[in-house]
Amino acid sequence: MNERKSLRATILIRVVPITAMALLLIVMVARYGILQMIKSEVITRLEQASFITADALGGRLDLLRESAAGLAENDLIIHSIVDKSQRKEQLAVFFRSLKLPSPAFRRVTMTDYRGRIVASSDVQRTGVQNGIEVRDFLEKVMQGSDHFELDSDRIIMATPVRYSGNAEAVIAIEYATTAFMKEFQTLDAGHHLQVFGSGGALYSSDQREQGVSPWIASTQQVRGYPNLRVERSESPEIAYASVRSLDTFFAGVLLACLASLLYGIFAAANAVTEPLTRMVGQIEQIEASDDLSQRVDDGGPREIQNLTSSFNSMIGSLSRTTVSLDRLQRSEERLRVIIESVPNGIIGTDDEGKIVLVNAGIESMFGFSRTDLVGQSIEMLVPPSQRERHKVDRVQFMRAPEPRSMAQRRELFGLHRSGDAIPVEIELTPMERNDDMRISVLASVVDVSERRRQEQKISEKNQIIHENEERLSLAVRTANIGLWDWNIGSSYVRVSPELSAHLGEETAYQDYPGWRARVHPEDWDQADAAVVDCIEGKSSRYEATFRMRHRDSSYRWILAQGQLIRDGDGEPDRMIGVHIDITDQQLAADELQQVNQNLSRSNDELEQFAYVASHDLQEPLRKVTSFCELLREDCEESLSEDGRRFLGYVVDGATRMRTLIQDLLSFSRIESQGQTHSLVDANKAVLRASRSLAAIIEEAGAEVTHDQLPEVVADSTQLTQLLQNLIGNAIKYNGNPIPQVHISSELRDASWVFSVRDNGIGIEPQYFEQIFGVFKRLHSMDTYRGTGIGLAICKRIVDRMSGEIWVESSPGEGSTFFFSVPNPVS
Ligand code: ADP
Repeated sequence: MNERKSLRATILIRVVPITAMALLLIVMVARYGILQMIKSEVITRLEQASFITADALGGRLDLLRESAAGLAENDLIIHSIVDKSQRKEQLAVFFRSLKLPSPAFRRVTMTDYRGRIVASSDVQRTGVQNGIEVRDFLEKVMQGSDHFELDSDRIIMATPVRYSGNAEAVIAIEYATTAFMKEFQTLDAGHHLQVFGSGGALYSSDQREQGVSPWIASTQQVRGYPNLRVERSESPEIAYASVRSLDTFFAGVLLACLASLLYGIFAAANAVTEPLTRMVGQIEQIEASDDLSQRVDDGGPREIQNLTSSFNSMIGSLSRTTVSLDRLQRSEERLRVIIESVPNGIIGTDDEGKIVLVNAGIESMFGFSRTDLVGQSIEMLVPPSQRERHKVDRVQFMRAPEPRSMAQRRELFGLHRSGDAIPVEIELTPMERNDDMRISVLASVVDVSERRRQEQKISEKNQIIHENEERLSLAVRTANIGLWDWNIGSSYVRVSPELSAHLGEETAYQDYPGWRARVHPEDWDQADAAVVDCIEGKSSRYEATFRMRHRDSSYRWILAQGQLIRDGDGEPDRMIGVHIDITDQQLAADELQQVNQNLSRSNDELEQFAYVASHDLQEPLRKVTSFCELLREDCEESLSEDGRRFLGYVVDGATRMRTLIQDLLSFSRIESQGQTHSLVDANKAVLRASRSLAAIIEEAGAEVTHDQLPEVVADSTQLTQLLQNLIGNAIKYNGNPIPQVHISSELRDASWVFSVRDNGIGIEPQYFEQIFGVFKRLHSMDTYRGTGIGLAICKRIVDRMSGEIWVESSPGEGSTFFFSVPNPVS
């Protein structure tokens, strides 16, 4: 029994320290291995995180670039350059609609080539001093390059707006760097995001404590932005926190192992000493009996071996299980945090298209909860009509997966829980497959409903603008109107093809000096003066007529009209207008003027001639008449019968000639000896005319009556003569025993219309016009005496009063002569 005790003690003393050492070594190696695995896992995660962040940042910046480019190609914006005044209001409304609710967004601004704001999403910002300070990069953008700037305060994306290939304005979008970057920041503590530009850190999330052991970091360059790098880092305290908890675990395991080892060894020692004792007993028995055939039971060592082996196996299995569970948990946890922090909707699927992971973005976008989605086929979120096609696309994609974006050009829809289709854009990222991840594709989904709505709105507006422009352009082409647009600052003039065609050129001129060089030198002064007057505000619009040189060296007459457009500071900015080729009209007008001049000259000459002739003829005629009278008085008896008859003819002829000459004289004096017009009482004029005709009225037994007549503006003498001629004719061309003449008046529109009505012989309608001509008579001298000048005189008098004269009559039923005089009151 003593031997057995000492054997057990020997075993315990020798085996326990060695085994304990071995166990400690195993645990330390395991701990080291796990630490390395966690570290590599953290690094992998950080690499993924920095990759995703860099990619997302690059994507957002690309989006900014595309937004700026999209705006620069927007029709409304481009046309605002041509016609500021017309579209100012539309443009302001459009820019205000571009205001984004994101805290990072500051503003989008359009500036002109001088850097002055034309429109801004920020209504309160007007004038140079408040805009995005584009002056620093204005020149670069006006030369046609994009400008991208990212510093710790702001992000600016600027692009030129081109019109006919020239940069005319600048669209600049400004974001606040810190707020912008915050969108890419993971939410969990101990994580850190830094963004570096060429000049150092541009953004740093504020969670990193200084002075602690070095952080685990991964840096990634932003694709498409060579100077931009993103660094994701994680505090080692947090990263290795699990290891510390593992240490407690390992210590426990170690103690438990040691305890069970002691117990096992104790039991094993017992198990080993028992067969040994039995063996000793057997040996003693063999010695006593001399039976050497007995053998010692050798089952003991195998049991110990089995025990050790099971123990080792148990420990191994336990440690493996612990490690792999922890890795998987950490891995998925980190991916989840990263994905939740991304602003887009993110959805992960496995090889079969089953949804494995979704973020909050997807939940709110599609109206399903995570539990509704995870485990379902991705086609659940595709409208039924597109499902088959989606399946085919998905299978094809999985055959050769590589990152790509979908539906940038074609319409792609997602299916909301309500059954509504949502327009979306999707970005696919294949995931590296390993044992820890079931996700094979990550899809980033953006709801573009709002963008589509905006695009739709704009394209409606654009359609109206387009239609209006087509109409305008048709009108301009049809009317052969040339358009010009003069940028006063740069002197550049853009001209339409119609304008160039007026001068027989393809491009008639391109700047102000070019235009002036084509203007006829004699017209320079007045053409320049019209421009200066308009710019200086002396005239509200520009209008000038001048000659311009055609390619064939002839000169065309051009009517130019335009409008000055001032910028936000009230400075003259540009002038836009039209050229109309009026050469034909001008020639016609010249010709007409020439004809008028000739006519007026010959009228003057004729008048002069009539006056001189009638005046000079009077004198010899008077002589003829008076000598004929003397001849009749003194020598009548000595004349034969024939002689007396011939003398009668001579006297009669001379008398008629005198009347004719007097009439002609008064006809020719109407213009030259007319009095100035004044207010005349027509009643008195009738009275004066009747008095002059008193002998005739009495002789014919005529009745001349009149209504109450108005006052009119006229030459008093001529109005009397007019009435006298009409009343005289009314009595003369009248076969009635009692000729009746009635004068009345009525107000028609802005004129007084007088009428002189008789109960005389009347006039055939075909003579209504011609009786007002000189020497036009309807009767022979035998029937009614007259010169045919009376009504011609009437017409001239009425013409001089800017009125009209006409007659209404039927043969045998009397005539009414009308004449109009402008109403002095109107
Ligand atoms: P004159 O009376 O000297 O012939 P007028 O110029 O006054 O010349 O008239 C032109 C012609 O118009 C007259 O010859 C006459 O035939 C016609 N005429 C003018 N007044 C009347 C009238 N009241 N009634 C009918 N015929 C008239």
